[in-house]
Amino acid sequence: MICSYCQTENNKFASECNFCKAPLKVERPSLNREVMEEDYEKPFPILINYHTYHLLLLLRKAREERTRCYHLMRGVQKGSKWIEIASEFVC
Ligand SMILES: [Zn+2]
Repeated sequence: MICSYCQTENNKFASECNFCKAPLKVERPSLNREVMEEDYEKPFPILINYHTYHLLLLLRKAREERTRCYHLMRGVQKGSKWIEIASEFVC
């Protein structure tokens, strides 16, 4: 049996690859499925079934979202220094 991860030839009765220790009986995630932007919010037990390529795409999307949130937060922090509150609203 050929390992789907490292292409090493293994004994046909082996349950794991003798080179990389990957399970030989577990089907490798496929690249054929679609991945959606919202998928990066899914929990680990679901994401473990995704192909590495899709996980990298989702990681990139999550990092873009984190960067956008950071810049938004920084903008709010900088903007708050310029706001003046009228004296009638101050106790
Ligand atoms: Zn292997």
